[in-house]
Amino acid sequence: MIDRAEDILKHTFGYTHFRGSQKSVIETALAGQDALVLMPTGGGKSLCYQIPGLVRDGMAIVVSPLIALMQDQVAALQQLGIRAAYLNSTLSREEAGATLRAIHDHELDVLYIAPERLLQDATLDRLCSVPVSLIAIDEAHCVSQWGHDFRADYLGLNVLRYAFPGVPRLALTATADERSREEIMMRLDLCEPKVFVSSFDRPNIRYIVKEKGEAKSQLLSFLQDYKQQAGIVYCMSRSRVDGIAAWLSQRGYKALPYHAGLPGEERQENQRRFLREEGIVMVATIAFGMGIDKPDVRFVAHLDLPKSIEAYYQETGRAGRDGQPSVAWMVYGLQDVVRIGKMVQDSNADEQFKRMERGKIDSLLAWCEATTCRRRALLRYFGEADAEVCGNCDVCLNPPKTWNATEAAQKLLSNIYRTGQRFGSGHVIDVLRGKETAKVKQFGHHSLSTYGIGADVSDQQWRSVIRQLIVQGYLLVNEQLYGAIQLTEKARALLRGDVSLFLRQDSAAAKPARAKRTP
Ligand code: ADP
Ligand code: ZN
Repeated sequence: MIDRAEDILKHTFGYTHFRGSQKSVIETALAGQDALVLMPTGGGKSLCYQIPGLVRDGMAIVVSPLIALMQDQVAALQQLGIRAAYLNSTLSREEAGATLRAIHDHELDVLYIAPERLLQDATLDRLCSVPVSLIAIDEAHCVSQWGHDFRADYLGLNVLRYAFPGVPRLALTATADERSREEIMMRLDLCEPKVFVSSFDRPNIRYIVKEKGEAKSQLLSFLQDYKQQAGIVYCMSRSRVDGIAAWLSQRGYKALPYHAGLPGEERQENQRRFLREEGIVMVATIAFGMGIDKPDVRFVAHLDLPKSIEAYYQETGRAGRDGQPSVAWMVYGLQDVVRIGKMVQDSNADEQFKRMERGKIDSLLAWCEATTCRRRALLRYFGEADAEVCGNCDVCLNPPKTWNATEAAQKLLSNIYRTGQRFGSGHVIDVLRGKETAKVKQFGHHSLSTYGIGADVSDQQWRSVIRQLIVQGYLLVNEQLYGAIQLTEKARALLRGDVSLFLRQDSAAAKPARAKRTP
């Protein structure tokens, strides 16, 4: 049977070799076994189910949450002479009826289907009445409630085990920390699945993380090197997306906005232009990108911090699918930390969930402040313990200088203590630097012993110190107190002078911001 698979690879798809674990996955499916396939975005997951689906008798069912992309995927298969169709809420009654008839008449090789549609009784009955070659569950991480793309409908997919006994099921995803792995297998009720884990390394992507200053001008100078190139700029909010897209357009970039608040037609049109035209910069919220297969995306820029390392990896993974050098560029600052913390706090999730979310943010923050190879840290996070330093990230290329920040940190901690642990970083820094603001006077903080003791350190540097102390667990941001910065238990040792502290020296990143403030 594997000969038949190779034959299809060559003659139907026109490729010479299987990539990575494709062949082993296909063998597993051909043997009728379940599998969990973890492959980074662009790794070639589709062939893993399309080919065995064609080799085995019957119709392959592909469950996907990406309704917007089904039409393209089906069209691409039809071009190759494969009898493919899809069922989702975008079809008219007549169209859906035609597809259901095609299923009944055994006229399909591959059916793409949205989970909510699949789980309708009438649909399930129809599908159960015809031979099914295999079931692929794409974007399988959507079943994970802890993940960043949870879809309630995915939870119902465990019925497939009993609805289609003996039919192999493949769960595929690009998100694969240990926890989601276990959860996917458990919730989908896979039967003794073989697990395939591909390396998550994307060697052609260079990782760059900078301290956020004037984010817009930082973006603009980054883009200097990418004129006429396609890329994605991720922002946190819809209004920021609109603002940045308009602003870039005024500066001669072919920039388009994309977010869930735009009318459907405009969104589709922008996506279509991004895929077909050259040199489009898509300014987007995370609503954009899942399943986007554009090979020559040269950069992915983050103007705001994502929620987790998984989200970051998935978003940046859209760069450089063609294997050519590409960049994942991000600026982040203290305000991101406070904002995300507040978002978590304000959500109506339960305490356990909030704790998890905070843990994820902390991992990402620690990664941002890395003083050793970012790629190695990223790969270790995904369970690749033996990764080596890469030579292709900002830390490897430009090792950050460190400085002995023990004394500065002591000043900061005592100042936070003296001001009552009730203020955000802005005020804390104003007091340290001896600025007579209205707020400083209102609270009488100009008469504190810590007033002005940190004037020798710039605002910028203080923010960096605060950030790193949060990441290292000496400080915490109390969302219930409007983002007040407070000392942790660990801070004591530092205050007593029992430990010394070396921090990353943030350098060039934020020069524009400083220049602006001191004319
Ligand atoms: P994923 O779903 O894992 O993100 P895809 O299945 O969309 O990735 O594949 C990414 C790209 O790699 C596609 O353009 C696909 O045609 C190409 N590809 C996949 N497998 C092979 C292969 N064995 N040889 C050459 N190209 C491949
Ligand atoms: Zn590196």
